[in-house]
Amino acid sequence: MSDPKDFSHFGLDPALLAAIADLGYVKPTPIQAKAIPVALAGRDVMGAAQTGTGKTAGFGLPLIQRLLPHANTSASPARHPVRALVLTPTRELAEQVADNLKKYAARTTLRVACVYGGVDMEPQTEVLRRGCEIVVATPGRLLDHLQQRNTSLSQVQIVVLDEADRMLDMGFLPDISRILKLLPSQRQSLMFSATFSDDIRKLAASFLREPVVIEVARRNATADLIRQEFFKVHESEKTDALLALLRGYGRDGGPMKQVLVFVNAKVVCRRLTRQLQRAGVKADAIHGDRLQEERTRALDAFKRGDIEVLVATDVAARGLDIVELPAVINYDVPFNPEDYVHRIGRTGRAGATGLAITLMTGAEERAVAAIEKLTKLKFDIRPLPVLLARRVRGRGEGPARPASPPAPGEEFFNKPYEPALLAQPPSVPEPAAEAVPARRPGKVAALLGGGKH
Ligand code: AMP
Repeated sequence: MSDPKDFSHFGLDPALLAAIADLGYVKPTPIQAKAIPVALAGRDVMGAAQTGTGKTAGFGLPLIQRLLPHANTSASPARHPVRALVLTPTRELAEQVADNLKKYAARTTLRVACVYGGVDMEPQTEVLRRGCEIVVATPGRLLDHLQQRNTSLSQVQIVVLDEADRMLDMGFLPDISRILKLLPSQRQSLMFSATFSDDIRKLAASFLREPVVIEVARRNATADLIRQEFFKVHESEKTDALLALLRGYGRDGGPMKQVLVFVNAKVVCRRLTRQLQRAGVKADAIHGDRLQEERTRALDAFKRGDIEVLVATDVAARGLDIVELPAVINYDVPFNPEDYVHRIGRTGRAGATGLAITLMTGAEERAVAAIEKLTKLKFDIRPLPVLLARRVRGRGEGPARPASPPAPGEEFFNKPYEPALLAQPPSVPEPAAEAVPARRPGKVAALLGGGKH
């Protein structure tokens, strides 16, 4: 059972197998191969899942299977009490998890509801009052609904804490504790986290009973299929460097397509989006101050390809699932090294390859060192390739304008460029694991090799 070739080995209901086939899933991902049998057996699970590994189906399929005996077509709300609760840190992740669960349960009569803050409570209230077996929620809004008696958790059999590390980072521990107290003690509990701190372990110890620990990736690892590049730039040249990358670092030296750009602050998010738009890039922003509708609209337009660049703060780092997103660029190095893991996890998802580029200024060196410590990787921090650097400085024509004297330790664009890299700009080669080391032997091989320890 540890390495089943397809989903038929798990003993899942035909309704679930058909839904999986509808979605085009052929082979379980490693976390699914491990988590599904354990969760089906009713055990508690502590999952250390790499980002984009398919963990939603890893807990979602067994959850639905275990609730199937309760599926019914009655119109009475009393026949549809909440039996499974999934808590997530952000609205985006809640929506995404709920969407996936709805797809997995599409051929059953089980109902899935999604509740999160920042939007009108009324439509959610209606859905909850009609009754639904599976509720996906952010903690604060769920407590609001519980306070108003729009729903009850007294019949919950299964609870999932998704992205538990992020929930703790966002200060949800008191809310989570209040919610957990409202659940029956007889229940199955599952917890997933990409990174594991002492606080996470404490929460797991209090919340899980003899959990089966499932680890499909090295702890605190970045996804193996993501190629990580670091370019050192002057603070004043960051936006131009980003534009140069967007225009000339795609396949065959062309523009990059569908790039998620991360920044550290809302104000930078707004400013950078405007700058990109002025430079002719189809860009939009997604951050905590935007209305949920605006965020959803921007995300949908990005998914459709109507906008090329989505500029995001970390609120969007979790839960964004864009199939085969080719590249992520960190315009700012995240303050929290764990956010780096989550940010770049938006690319290279579910077996696809990805490229994660980070622009680093002298002031951000320490933040990069913290990421190296967390990921146990040593990054090759380079100046921007010279052709791109020329675009930054001389907009592509003539020799680069003379460099202002670099600050100590900041050589920026003065190092020789690598012809091989420029002759064949990277962007998501296939298959990445082989193509990348062939192109840039020492450094990338070391990176990828470093990721396997
Ligand atoms: P998750 O980590 O759950 O957010 O899943 C990441 C992406 O992988 C989603 O788009 C899923 O629909 C997709 N996915 C999950 N499991 C599989 C599978 N077994 N085969 C192909 N795609 C999958």
